[in-house]
Amino acid sequence: GSTIGILGGGQLGRMLSVAASRLGYRTHIFEPGANPPAGHVADQVTTAAYEDRAALEAFAASVDIITYEFENIPTQALDILEAHRPIHPNREALRVSQDRLVEKRFLQDLGLATAPFAAVDTLSDLEDAIATTGTPAILKTRRFGYDGKGQARIKSANKAESALADMAGAPAILEGFVEFSREVSVIAARGLHGDVACFDPGENVHHEGILRTTTVPAHLTASQRMGAVLLAAQILSALEYVGVMGVELFVTDGGLIVNEIAPRVHNSGHWTQNGCAVDQFEQHIRAITGLPLGDGQRHADVVMENLIGDDMDKVPTLLRSAETALHLYGKAETKPGRKMGHANHIRPKSS
Ligand code: ATP
Ligand code: MG
Ligand code: MG
Repeated sequence: GSTIGILGGGQLGRMLSVAASRLGYRTHIFEPGANPPAGHVADQVTTAAYEDRAALEAFAASVDIITYEFENIPTQALDILEAHRPIHPNREALRVSQDRLVEKRFLQDLGLATAPFAAVDTLSDLEDAIATTGTPAILKTRRFGYDGKGQARIKSANKAESALADMAGAPAILEGFVEFSREVSVIAARGLHGDVACFDPGENVHHEGILRTTTVPAHLTASQRMGAVLLAAQILSALEYVGVMGVELFVTDGGLIVNEIAPRVHNSGHWTQNGCAVDQFEQHIRAITGLPLGDGQRHADVVMENLIGDDMDKVPTLLRSAETALHLYGKAETKPGRKMGHANHIRPKSS
């Protein structure tokens, strides 16, 4: 059997590792932080820094292919790894998704709609950008943001200076605020041979920048659903992408607007674990190992509920529901805002 190397040992790495194991593969996790959630289920764990060339080379030598659960892997580490083993999804997908400005330009070049945006490094950039986008707007760091971190909302132009201070000197992007009616995402996959399969779009509710629930089916018209899936497929094909990607969309009266893409399995795809025969984690493993993809068919309606911080108090109750599948990440410590697990609430398929 082959061994799959996974960069990152969080819950996504953990669930990828479980899926790989079910298909008969071994997994080796590379993770700088101690005691990673994925470490409990992987066959092997290397705890080392991304600057540690010898550790990276030994890791690469021990695996057949390399994938990742997060997009912020340092470029130098990728150079070292890629000299030894193939990395899926490819470097281009990482280059585009690591930087919100590069990502927005890439989407625009594909003819896809995005929020109005402008690059911001200085206060005068920001003042010009606000003139372009209007207010309200959102200032975001170009790199490293997740769960709404590294963002400042600008309600009126006189709040520009304090919003820029929140970026702590990091290069930023200003986005006009999109008046969306709903947020949805498409979890899409492309195989080694160019075949594409998408799961049904899920409808996402965020609170304080963090995903709380994903519901399938999403409230979309047939043409919106088709549009969302086609647009996701277009993005994957343009990148010659191999693996699973999450594509976050805003639904507006004027059509679908792409918020961001994530070159990996995605929190809003966790519903597939109990709504589909082949879930997003198995789909990703199938894609990168050259196996046929699952077709994305859904056999149930699902509400995925993230368990964040003190939501863990609900676990005893959730355990008593026959319609609920619990997925806990085995994290040592509960902290406010930390994703500890999720619950998939299942109903018979409606449409
Ligand atoms: P993730 O954890 O999904 O990677 P993130 O930190 O990259 O999150 P975004 O997806 O950019 O953050 O933003 C988080 C949420 O904030 C969005 O899902 C949406 O609800 C809201 N949001 C972000 N940008 C905009 C925008 N331009 N207009 C309106 N709402 C927005
Ligand atoms: Mg993001
Ligand atoms: Mg997002």
